Amino acid sequence: MGWNQTLRGELTDTFSGKILFDEPAAAYTSLRVGGKMDALVFPANNEELSSVIAFTHRHALPFVPVGNWTNLIVRDGGFRGIVISLSRLQKLLVRHQADGTALITAEAGCPLAQLVKTAAEESLTGSEFCAGIPGSVGGAIRMNAGAYGGEIKDIVENIVIINNNGEETAVAQKELHFAYRNLDLPADSIIITGTLRLHGGRKKEITAQMAEIIRKRKDKHPLDLPNAGSIFRNPPDCPAGRLIEESGLKGLRVGDAQISEKHANFIVNRGKASATDIMKLMDFIVQSVFEKTGRTLEPEIKVVGES
Ligand SMILES: Cc1cc2nc3c(=O)[nH]c(=O)nc-3n(C[C@H](O)[C@H](O)[C@H](O)COP(=O)(O)OP(=O)(O)OC[C@H]3O[C@@H](n4cnc5c(N)ncnc54)[C@H](O)[C@@H]3O)c2cc1C
Repeated sequence: MGWNQTLRGELTDTFSGKILFDEPAAAYTSLRVGGKMDALVFPANNEELSSVIAFTHRHALPFVPVGNWTNLIVRDGGFRGIVISLSRLQKLLVRHQADGTALITAEAGCPLAQLVKTAAEESLTGSEFCAGIPGSVGGAIRMNAGAYGGEIKDIVENIVIINNNGEETAVAQKELHFAYRNLDLPADSIIITGTLRLHGGRKKEITAQMAEIIRKRKDKHPLDLPNAGSIFRNPPDCPAGRLIEESGLKGLRVGDAQISEKHANFIVNRGKASATDIMKLMDFIVQSVFEKTGRTLEPEIKVVGES
């Protein structure tokens, strides 16, 4: 486990940004689980990002991009390769258009909350449904995040991706293959910016709607404990939470991993849960829901790393 000094030295020589070796993922994932990552890097611009991608290519190392770690489990064995945090890429630009719409271009690591706040300040409507989703812009586009009747795909105008050769490509909305909680991207490509089109609206109504959504979220979601939002995808005709609740599983625990008493599609970490506990609980849910309802739940959360 871990890298030898030569490989560490080479990465340090190649990449001028912040690097952490053997950092525990539990310090970053919103569920507070996950083992050590060989290397965690924080590129602060596209050149640094390209240099780290070139490094992974040269050494045939796996890599994974991360935003705010709010939809991600890193297994307890950690990640062999490079985890690329986009959290230092946060620039945001608003361009008002002659037709009354506006284009907001955000770097991938920009918190969705920042984008939504800026939209409200600029009296722009269309992104209110994102209020309270704790991801980054890149993560939200990759996951086609959605809530309260809206999905990111509805407001994306285009994105820029970088591939594993370091080439940047702009892709228009109509060429993007969005699906429920997913955007199909070519393997190993990373979203570096996303541009959203929003419409002119009334600031008072926009902020009132955002406040109402945040109030509903606080009512429904167990926000006082580490969690990763919905663990399972909702089948088309029935929320996953209802299937889990009707299967009598609310409150069930594996170690410190617990199916939330407040919302059955949330797993919370009551203290010292491991990624293994979470995944055992997920397996148990899938099996029990299938036995009780005949339905097969599929995870929404992404899982990386070694068991
Ligand atoms: C309390 C809570 C409430 C939530 N509510 C909602 C909700 O209402 N609706 C909803 O859809 N989700 C919800 N989520 C889940 C999560 O916030 C979203 O999926 C969010 O969009 C993930 O963004 P992130 O930056 O945290 O992604 P991460 O967790 O960092 O990554 C998620 C996946 O995206 C990939 N990824 C991240 N950034 C990039 C990039 N730049 N390029 C390519 N791939 C990338 C990662 O490799 C990983 O596979 C909630 C989570 C929590 C904790």
